[in-house]
Amino acid sequence: MKDQTVLVTGGAGYIGSHACLELLQAGFKVVVVDNLANSKVESLARVQKLAGKTLTFYQADIRDKQALTDIFAKETPDTVIHFAGLKAVGESCALPQLYYHNNVYGTLVLTEVMNAANVKQLVFSSSATVYGESASPQYSEHFPLGAINPYGRSKAMIEDILRDLSASDKLNNVEKPWKIALLRYFNPIGAHDSGMIGEDPNGIPNNLMPYVAQVAIGKLTQLSVFGDDYPTRDGTGIRDYIHVVDLVQGHIKAIAALNGEHFAEGECKAYNLGAGRGYSVLEIIDAFQRVTGKTIPYQMSPRRAGDLAECFANPALALAELNWQVEKDLDDMVNDTWNWQTKNPQGYQ
Ligand code: NAD
Ligand code: UDP
Repeated sequence: MKDQTVLVTGGAGYIGSHACLELLQAGFKVVVVDNLANSKVESLARVQKLAGKTLTFYQADIRDKQALTDIFAKETPDTVIHFAGLKAVGESCALPQLYYHNNVYGTLVLTEVMNAANVKQLVFSSSATVYGESASPQYSEHFPLGAINPYGRSKAMIEDILRDLSASDKLNNVEKPWKIALLRYFNPIGAHDSGMIGEDPNGIPNNLMPYVAQVAIGKLTQLSVFGDDYPTRDGTGIRDYIHVVDLVQGHIKAIAALNGEHFAEGECKAYNLGAGRGYSVLEIIDAFQRVTGKTIPYQMSPRRAGDLAECFANPALALAELNWQVEKDLDDMVNDTWNWQTKNPQGYQ
């Protein structure tokens, strides 16, 4: 498996760059396809420096079928990890066509090219946002789906497309059926412990952890805590934060599972990647203050539309079938976020 070639769409981005590093370190050949819509090629320069190995980079859009076909012909990948996508919930509400075109149509083109090249192993970046309302805050894979914004719906649509694609192989009796892992991420945060690669959001961050880090370093003045009247232990929202390095290890384990005998041919299966426990906004602020010694000024603000009170994973399936579970704790996540932020106050620039 180690000599296999993995084609990574969106490999220059936050999670993709960490995945490329782990893949190189695990002995895979890595080919990245990224249009740099939300990333910089500097991330890949640093990945190669850290790994002491090279990867192949193509600046291309996954919606460009000819470009993708040429890349597949040249590189003959064994497996694809598909990170490429737009991910800002607010922007997806303002520009839904862009999100469906980029995420859904882009995945259609990718799978068409994969089919034509007979590359049938795929690991897809899905999200906990595909889940609908539930009586329990701890989400299992069989819970009903029901995304509530265009970004989440684009992920849910892609999951449907990939399930249909797998099912069609059985009907068509193809010789080499698809094997697909849909990885539903909870809240990825943190950075590689070198501080060389990390999350480099454009403009003012939407997500809690990069926002807190920019308050701590003085780029932003204070955090707004969105809601203090939720039915949670301290009134603020609870999420399942997961270290990005743990998250990308889940992808390596998923590739191993796809190559193993327990993952049936023609299977398309969803796995939660989360820790199985949640932290509140105030607990995150406390941990950040304790670990960094910085004060985080914050004010209580109204709830943000569309937010759930509490959401965390049941990660039992990923443990049972991928042999994966998180290894890092909240202090690691905060330490590594802060290390990246202080070493790169302007991100990759
Ligand atoms: P990111 O924006 O840092 O990385 C995405 C990468 O895809 C970027 O480098 C971007 O330039 C590239 N890209 C976008 N559209 C493209 C296209 N049409 N063709 C080629 N490249 C394209 O985001 P991330 O946080 O690393 O997320 C990676 C994946 O994980 C995304 O699909 C995202 O939806 C999913 N995800 C992220 C989170 C999170 O909190 N970060 C949570 C759940 C799921
Ligand atoms: N949050 C907050 N202030 C911010 C950003 C986020 O209080 O500036 C809260 C948000 O309401 C949620 C939690 O932090 O309870 C995590 O939000 P994030 O956007 O990081 O992740 P998601 O909502 O996608 O789970």
